[in-house]
Amino acid sequence: MNELDTKYMKEAIKQAKKALKLKEVPIGCVIVYQDKIIARGYNRRNTDKTTLGHAEITAIKKASRVIGDWRLEDCTIYITLEPCQMCAGAIVQARIPRVVIGSMNPKAGCGGSVLNILQMEQFNHRCEVTRGVLEEECSTMLSSFFKQLRQEKAKRREPS
Ligand SMILES: [Zn+2]
Repeated sequence: MNELDTKYMKEAIKQAKKALKLKEVPIGCVIVYQDKIIARGYNRRNTDKTTLGHAEITAIKKASRVIGDWRLEDCTIYITLEPCQMCAGAIVQARIPRVVIGSMNPKAGCGGSVLNILQMEQFNHRCEVTRGVLEEECSTMLSSFFKQLRQEKAKRREPS
């Protein structure tokens, strides 16, 4: 296990916890350039009421501002959950060379589960992908969030 990958995934998890505080699905992300975090993001889809509120999109926007370019060619993006089709597309469009993923998302992920947009031979850019960094911590965070959500829903249905 790569120590730096673990270190930065922990930072992505910190971001995910910010989403959790807003009762959002806990997904977080950081972008690293020359061994420094230049952008952070966490899921704010419900809070901001936009499908563009995914952690990765927020972080890519910030990183582009810092770098001063839409190309993020020397960056690594760390995400607690396998990206969706929109974010995987944005990562490829931004030419990010390396993607580090915490847990996989078998039902919706586009970094190797449903599709592998990050590594399509037909596209002009393909990412190097590392999967399963702090996987258990990342997936437990999600499963306990959904478990709690189900419990709260069940409670609301109980007659008072
Ligand atoms: Zn996404």
